[in-house]
Amino acid sequence: MKNLSFASIAQLRELLDNKEISEQELLDFYLDRFKQYNPILNAAIEIFDKESIDGQFAHQGILSGIPGLIKDNILQADRKMTCASKILEGFKATYDATVISRLKRHGAPLIGRANLDEFAMGSSTETSAFGPTKNPWDLERVPGGSSGGSAAAVAAGLVPWALGSETGGSVRQPAGLCGIVGIKPTYGLVSRYGLTAYASSLDQVGIFARSAYDIAIVLSILAGQDVRDSSTLSVQKKDYTQSLDGLIKPGMTIGVVESMVGAAGVDDEVRQVIEQAVKDFEKLGVTIKKISLPILDYAASAYFIISRAEAASNLARFDGVRYGLRDKQAQSLDMMYSETRHDGFGIEVRDRILVGNFVLSAGHAAEFYQNAQMVRRMIRKDLDQAFSQVDLLITPTQPTGAFKIGEYDQQNKLLMDLQDYFTCFANLSGNPGISIPGGFTKNKLPIGFQLIGPHLSEGLMLQTAHAYQQVTNWHKQHPENF
Ligand code: GLN
Repeated sequence: MKNLSFASIAQLRELLDNKEISEQELLDFYLDRFKQYNPILNAAIEIFDKESIDGQFAHQGILSGIPGLIKDNILQADRKMTCASKILEGFKATYDATVISRLKRHGAPLIGRANLDEFAMGSSTETSAFGPTKNPWDLERVPGGSSGGSAAAVAAGLVPWALGSETGGSVRQPAGLCGIVGIKPTYGLVSRYGLTAYASSLDQVGIFARSAYDIAIVLSILAGQDVRDSSTLSVQKKDYTQSLDGLIKPGMTIGVVESMVGAAGVDDEVRQVIEQAVKDFEKLGVTIKKISLPILDYAASAYFIISRAEAASNLARFDGVRYGLRDKQAQSLDMMYSETRHDGFGIEVRDRILVGNFVLSAGHAAEFYQNAQMVRRMIRKDLDQAFSQVDLLITPTQPTGAFKIGEYDQQNKLLMDLQDYFTCFANLSGNPGISIPGGFTKNKLPIGFQLIGPHLSEGLMLQTAHAYQQVTNWHKQHPENF
């Protein structure tokens, strides 16, 4: 059954519908793969017992019987949720996130919980309290982050799809580093109800799969307004696979963001991938335009400030009273708060809370937070203008292939933060983005490129990505030894 490991959702659907395989057999198959490979990859924090797997008995939709993995910062009723942090030790979810209840209703077996950077803060999955996840293409390297466990599991063929979350690139960047597809939908397309907040004005649930077509299947289930999340948009439910005809929209234009492709620190190998993708799109009939967006150079700085500011507020709720860990030795309430938070949060999270409180503090807010918000508005405006000239933008997803575990330590942390450079502007502006496998480094590490579209252009982005995947094979390559 080895050939099932990298089967697409569409192929699995056909096998199940033709009764060539049963749902039980498929579930056993993936559970066995986790048993064999999770000890090597550390992609999942928990894999559930076969008997208790949620979603498996609802026989309703296109995903019924096709297992997926959920990032461990999305609430799943009666299951532990750790956010890869000690501070949530012993915490169990009391309700389902909207994305989870939608998946369950469609009969998707949710087989476990994926590893992540603590509270989704990081770009490597190294800040997890449960140890780093390994990149299946090279076990000495990171899978990216923060949704690294979800990405590694899909790349290694342990599940055909997984959920992650994005605040600044946490789906697209690991998708790029693991050689799979990752989408961050438009802010408000997918409900955040039940997603643990990192920076609420930036957060979105995202999806990993091995092809644009599979992403379209899962997105069709997740997308749509939710009365429990007032930031969701009132959009008609739609089937995103409908537009995937293998063709490019007539008259399609893609803008190459020149300053990003040419940015210092971008490997030549990454640049070549973009050049090749541009040629492939031209062959498909796309018109290419060069676009200048100098404001994007300020995105990472603005993101750094806004994400930390919102994180400081959002994480105030982990105080030892309401969830998980509580320091029992403390002599006073204040001491209990601070001891619990000191012991429960890792260093990265504590750093960010400190920075966040600083940039919001009286006397500094104008200099940092308000300026960052101004940059954010300019990014949105300039992107809107760019999209009056082109349909989509193309940029690198990340500057290099996957880096080594431990390569960016406390001494050179800023280099790690640079991982957000290409991705975070779309979180600031709310635009959707998708990372697509586009090639490899000499050492056979995957490289992705990114398409960014106007608000609610997921249909067009997926159509374009699917057409690209009909004429290229990068997404069909898999890591050896899995
Ligand atoms: N790497 C970014 C950060 O650490 C992105 C995280 C995310 O998208 N959750 O903030």
